[in-house]
Amino acid sequence: MKNWKLDGRIALLRVDFNVPLEGGVIRDNTRIVRSLETIRYLTGKGARLVIFSHLGRPLKSLLPDGSLDTARFSLKPIAEELSRLLGTRVDFASDCGGPDTLARLQLLPPGGVLLLENTRFQPEEEKGNPEFARRLSSLGEFFVNDAFGAAHREHATTATIARFFDTDHKAFGFLMQEEVDNALRVLKNPEKPCTAILGGAKVSDKIGLINNLIQFCDTILIGGGMAYTFLRAQGYETGASLCESDKLELAISLLDRAQMAGVELMLPSDGVIAPSPEEGDHCKITAGPEVPAGSMGLDIGPRTLERYADKIRNSKTLLWNGPMGVFERQAFSSGTRGVAEAIAEATERGAYSLVGGGDSVAAIHQFGLAGRVSFVSTGGGAMLEMLEGRELPGIAAILH
Ligand code: AMP
Repeated sequence: MKNWKLDGRIALLRVDFNVPLEGGVIRDNTRIVRSLETIRYLTGKGARLVIFSHLGRPLKSLLPDGSLDTARFSLKPIAEELSRLLGTRVDFASDCGGPDTLARLQLLPPGGVLLLENTRFQPEEEKGNPEFARRLSSLGEFFVNDAFGAAHREHATTATIARFFDTDHKAFGFLMQEEVDNALRVLKNPEKPCTAILGGAKVSDKIGLINNLIQFCDTILIGGGMAYTFLRAQGYETGASLCESDKLELAISLLDRAQMAGVELMLPSDGVIAPSPEEGDHCKITAGPEVPAGSMGLDIGPRTLERYADKIRNSKTLLWNGPMGVFERQAFSSGTRGVAEAIAEATERGAYSLVGGGDSVAAIHQFGLAGRVSFVSTGGGAMLEMLEGRELPGIAAILH
């Protein structure tokens, strides 16, 4: 992107403008704001910029007569917000690569921006249809992908389209490049000791992640609901805690694999329990890892937090994915908050920290600590798949 001559040329930019919209009002414009750097860079070099994005799942929410709910899923309000943020007019095409796009493209001046209608109004998008991708690719000379949050999808505008450009005419946008660079910083030769903190509801969502982390982490700290599957597999009573009883053998094999690889996989040694997540007033701290019948383990306990925080403070690379408990409720948020604070402290003392791929991103924002870690990913599912060591279709299509 850096050495492209863009003056007066048409550049296509795929972004992730999948923002929360209610009645045409944007509830959170973070994703639009995060794309401004790439947009300003391209228009600043004189590109005639065509932007496209998906929004929601319009084909899964058709109106009773089978037509598209354009009032709910149109990108028109986003064009207005983008225009406001850029301080220049952003033109909007009521289709994605159709006659309105072509007509407006004719009138687009150098440095001008044209936003196309929701890519997912086209059934070809989610099918990764090559003909649709080819048609869109023919609109411009360059293709930039800044939609990291959709990079794990093999869709027409997230991956397929890039295959119609040679490597000199396609690139990552700044946001996507930053996400990829940060993931690689953890995945490729992380500074040691490297510690992963994993939580969240289910082990089954994190199997690929744990398998990959075992290859390069020194320590894996486990919390959240998923810890109880490991504890049950080790023979502990876990009461009414979340437990995937069909994953007990898998939990044992992950523990064995970690041990063989010399990775210390740590489990909670105490917990905060209550009859249910709604009954925070009745919470208690257990003496050991066991949860009595009729109770649920809903957070790691203070001794576990102390052990985990100690490991975190002595690490040089930290990866955090998933909360330590039901952090949305005050009574069960101490473990997650404590881990977040330890990560922030370690970062201030020179460690590198990446928070990504799950509810830990929401947690770090909730605790107001997002500015005190090295990087907070914007791409939930995409970051999780990268950390699992998978090559994402949207990334591969730009690199090869
Ligand atoms: P995930 O999407 O897998 O990262 O899971 C996040 C969700 O897991 C959050 O909504 C937490 O409230 C929930 N969670 C974390 N720990 C527990 C637990 N011990 N029991 C029940 N739910 C939990």
